[in-house]
Amino acid sequence: MTSRETRTQVVIVGAGPSGLLLGQLLQRQGIDAVILERRSADYVLGRIRAGVLEQGSVDVLEHAGVAARLHAEGMRHDGVEIRFRGRRHRIELKALTGRNVTIYGQTEITRDLMDARVASGAPSVYEAEDVTLHDWDATSPRVSYREHGVVHEIACDFIAGCDGYHGVCRASIPLERQRTFERVYPFGWLGVLADMSPPWAELVYANSECGFALASMRSRTRVRCYVQCPLEDRVEQWSDQRFWDEFRRRMGEEIADRVIGAPSIEKSIAPLRSFVVEPLRFGRMFLAGDAAHIVPPTGAKGLNLAISDVFYLHEALRDFYCARGDRALDEYSIRCLRRIWRAERFSWWMTRQLHQFPGDAFSRRMQETELEYLFDSPAAQESMAENYVGLPLEQAGVSMPV
Ligand SMILES: Cc1cc2nc3c(=O)[nH]c(=O)nc-3n(C[C@H](O)[C@H](O)[C@H](O)COP(=O)(O)OP(=O)(O)OC[C@H]3O[C@@H](n4cnc5c(N)ncnc54)[C@H](O)[C@@H]3O)c2cc1C
Repeated sequence: MTSRETRTQVVIVGAGPSGLLLGQLLQRQGIDAVILERRSADYVLGRIRAGVLEQGSVDVLEHAGVAARLHAEGMRHDGVEIRFRGRRHRIELKALTGRNVTIYGQTEITRDLMDARVASGAPSVYEAEDVTLHDWDATSPRVSYREHGVVHEIACDFIAGCDGYHGVCRASIPLERQRTFERVYPFGWLGVLADMSPPWAELVYANSECGFALASMRSRTRVRCYVQCPLEDRVEQWSDQRFWDEFRRRMGEEIADRVIGAPSIEKSIAPLRSFVVEPLRFGRMFLAGDAAHIVPPTGAKGLNLAISDVFYLHEALRDFYCARGDRALDEYSIRCLRRIWRAERFSWWMTRQLHQFPGDAFSRRMQETELEYLFDSPAAQESMAENYVGLPLEQAGVSMPV
């Protein structure tokens, strides 16, 4: 086994949306980066995940020069609907905030970013094995990996840990250097992707006696639907017929009548978790996206937070390489965490209000009261709308309290 050594400015670990977007933003600033991804490009493209983009995320993708297809194919939604006890309420996102959300699948964003990277000629290594961080706390970090049996080592100025919740970057930091916060919810989401024209114009969230359900979509011909399920359930226990029967029951008559139970093209169960690590900077290594935080998908914030982290990180690295100093790098963690905790709060709040929790009668009454208040109070609706469309990204150089 031979060993090869190279050098770059930034090594990005992970080619999910965080890593690919950071690579694209840095490339446009003339900053060299190598992306190391342990899976194949096809595997990364095959993962079915998020689909709701905040206006701020669309702006960042535009800034990155990868929004042409998003604008052509994405669907703008001016509202979302909540159903509870036979009542339906539309939260008027656009009317209440002046902003909307765009439906465009994470898979499509990934494809656009991969295409842009290939076109730019910037290097990515897929199926990189045994990615290992060295000297991340020193001024000259290195990252090694194995490809086709050959060990490579890249010397760099910075490492971007964009490798998701199960990645190697956060795991390389001694536990005493990190503080973690976690909440695991006592249920999962069973998701089905199916080819049918969505019989709903906007996302519909339902809190029913049988549990939560979400009617969503990825395009004009593809729906993504979810039902709350027990954590211990396995996908094999859920035939398509069973899924659609349960989905119809939870959504209520008017949607049930219009849902044709199209065959699933993907079906999976995801556990729900809230997680944050503090800080996001460890020496010369910076965490971004799911490597640093997880939100339950109820508030549609996971992908959006990944995009805002990466936007802040690219600004900080740009400042460093433009000889504007270290200040933005020093502030990266606090700048991201402020936004992360607000998205965590909103995702936790949405999850609490819309699911069936095992628990006492008091908690159930609180949930009912909260939803009725939301339906009746314009102020509560405005607060939900403000968070759902996404809080604004902060300007660079803004001083924030530590
Ligand atoms: C099943 C599921 C469903 C979701 N649904 C929604 C949703 O509906 N709405 C929403 O907003 N969000 C959703 N999310 C969250 C959203 O998809 C994530 O927030 C988003 O993918 C974060 O992007 P990322 O690039 O930070 O992490 P990831 O997408 O996880 O990418 C990390 C990358 O790093 C790679 N990697 C990991 N370890 C290593 C290593 N050792 N070496 C090299 N590479 C490595 C991984 O293979 C992966 O490609 C969902 C997430 C999951 C898991």
